[in-house]
Amino acid sequence: MMNKKNFTSLIFLAGGKGLRIGGEIPKQFRPLLKKPLALYSLELFAALSEIDEIIVVCELQFRSLFASIQKPLYFVLPGNRRQDSVYRGLMASSDQSDLICVHDSARPFVEKDSIIHLLQEARRRGAAALAIPASNTIKQADPNQCVRRTLPREELWELQTPQAIERSLFIKAYIYAHAHEIEATDDLSLIEAMGEKTYLVKGSPRNFKITTPFDWVIAEKLCASN
Ligand code: C5P
Repeated sequence: MMNKKNFTSLIFLAGGKGLRIGGEIPKQFRPLLKKPLALYSLELFAALSEIDEIIVVCELQFRSLFASIQKPLYFVLPGNRRQDSVYRGLMASSDQSDLICVHDSARPFVEKDSIIHLLQEARRRGAAALAIPASNTIKQADPNQCVRRTLPREELWELQTPQAIERSLFIKAYIYAHAHEIEATDDLSLIEAMGEKTYLVKGSPRNFKITTPFDWVIAEKLCASN
């Protein structure tokens, strides 16, 4: 009997408003030196043989910015929250697919080796994400900024993307999240909410999410030095 081929779908998230950073257009479409921010990581994913299909989540008027990508792209419109956008991507993924990889377009400097390592771990374990050990002490506080507790730093990790999850497990997690009204700002949390285990793969600080004007300055410097 022939072995079933692995098939990995990428959901590329570019559906956020991204206006906190300033300017008229969402940050993921602003030119970072010579090209829109979103293209840096998407070009890398598109060149990987490990990625079999790419679903881009973005508003209609930005689709043409992806014209230079050398792989077929499927497009879906964003939902209200990040998790709604991921859901639309998941529903658009091929039935042939057995692994879903989600990446935020606001992380332009993700590295090839990290992606490949992550995909291997997700296939082995079911659900995994890139992350880096927390370098700052993190405190939990109430709305008045009165500290509730200090979390043990040696156990804390900052989550990044890509995150990758077996497709059938991911679909199950969305059904569960819908039934229990679970909200999550990352993908692994939906799996954890069902009581399933998820795993971290050590990434790199270069794979930071561009959120503030300060991050944009750092990104320009990194691009200029490459
Ligand atoms: O808001 P946050 O920084 O967590 O967004 C992470 C990614 O999800 C960004 O790339 C953003 O464009 C995308 N997003 C989306 N649809 C939304 C909200 C965010 O595709 N409704």
